[in-house]
Amino acid sequence: MTTGNGNREKELRSVRDEIMELKESPLYAYRLANHYNPVIGQGAHNADIMFVGEAPGKNEAEQGRPFCGAAGKILDELLSSISLPREKVYITNILKDRPPGNRDPLPQEIELYAPFLDRQIEAIKPRVLATLGRFSMEYIFKRYGLGDKLEKISATHGKVFSTTFRWKESVIIVPLYHPAVAIYNRNQLDELKKDFEVLKQFISSDTLKKSS
Ligand code: URA
Repeated sequence: MTTGNGNREKELRSVRDEIMELKESPLYAYRLANHYNPVIGQGAHNADIMFVGEAPGKNEAEQGRPFCGAAGKILDELLSSISLPREKVYITNILKDRPPGNRDPLPQEIELYAPFLDRQIEAIKPRVLATLGRFSMEYIFKRYGLGDKLEKISATHGKVFSTTFRWKESVIIVPLYHPAVAIYNRNQLDELKKDFEVLKQFISSDTLKKSS
């Protein structure tokens, strides 16, 4: 068992080290020019529930932590609405570097960074993957055998999907709207809160004991 955890830590460290040196990324020069940090991920390395956002914003790139700006405040509110402490889950993004001006991720950027996300998923082995926003939903669905279930996020949000991973027959995928949609729109916050309720059934006493 210790060996398993050791491997997990080793793999997560390798992921971090490789991203730090990812000179072939089109976002690497922008990172250096702005004294930004890559945002690898944060939370329990043995989490049952893993959240996957889109890409770091300015605050995140400055601090090297995911969801620590305005969208992060909303995410915190959503997590506390279901009594799920942030440190008990793992939070990351598809892109690990900030795209200039918070523009949408480009397909070639997703292609470059997504294998790191795959390795994080493989190391952490969550029971539940909750995608935040359209980009991570599309990536996760296509990558993990749910391509035929892919619809607009307005149709899939808050629904529970199940797929098979190499290490587990049933991993739950829950697509959620990106928390940023609620920054200026209270109605969207209510909708997000309703969707987060769906995650409640997957919070076990074991989940609440998790820590990195
Ligand atoms: N939006 C994201 O998708 N990820 C972050 O870390 C912050 C904002």
